Amino acid sequence: MGIFSSIFSSTWMCPVCGKEVSNNNKGAVSFNNCYLCSDCSVKVESFYKNKHIEHAYLEEMRAIVTGKYEDTENNYFTYENILIDLENKYKTIEDKHFELLDKIYEQYSIAINQDELNEEVRKCMNLCMQDIKLADELIIFYKKCEKILRQKRIPAYPSFSRISRLYEVFYHDYLNAMFFCYKGLVLGYSDDSKNGFKGKIAKYLKKYNKENNKNYKFNYENAVLFDDDTGEIIELIKKQ
Ligand SMILES: [Zn+2]
Repeated sequence: MGIFSSIFSSTWMCPVCGKEVSNNNKGAVSFNNCYLCSDCSVKVESFYKNKHIEHAYLEEMRAIVTGKYEDTENNYFTYENILIDLENKYKTIEDKHFELLDKIYEQYSIAINQDELNEEVRKCMNLCMQDIKLADELIIFYKKCEKILRQKRIPAYPSFSRISRLYEVFYHDYLNAMFFCYKGLVLGYSDDSKNGFKGKIAKYLKKYNKENNKNYKFNYENAVLFDDDTGEIIELIKKQ
């Protein structure tokens, strides 16, 4: 192949996705004078909305295209734009969570001091349930932030243990109490108490076994509840 035909038929690797690029599928964005493929180009452009594309880092462009955040020497700086975008995306749901949390703190201090199960208790449990519904989505946000910043960013999520305590006190329902601590634990949240979810599960388990003459045990490493007499695995699901 002559030098001219090799220039005109040349292909190269897209620096972002690694796919072959030729003049036919060449995008508008380049990195170190090497053009990205048109697919990657479009994604990067729509992310930056043509603002500061000339400052884009290769790792950042890869993260935009793949959604995966690789380690870099200066993660925060590199991923600052992605972080802002993430925060904007989850702002509404996080605001709703904080709003519910304020109400839960207030209502819980009333509920826990009731003499019996009544509307004040139910109101608090209802608020906790609303907040717990947001936990699945928020953990995705917190885990992404943690990965980008490389530091602990998953906050305590108090609704799990608050509703557990209400199930314990007003229903003597230790399985449901355990279920909510278990749910918080497996999602990756911590509890704002000294003993945490694991300590609370241990407490409810002890009470459940005593009242029901059972020998249930909890495997903390794998988060599994089982009957130590029969070997049966007990599925923790919310029961009415
Ligand atoms: Zn590409």
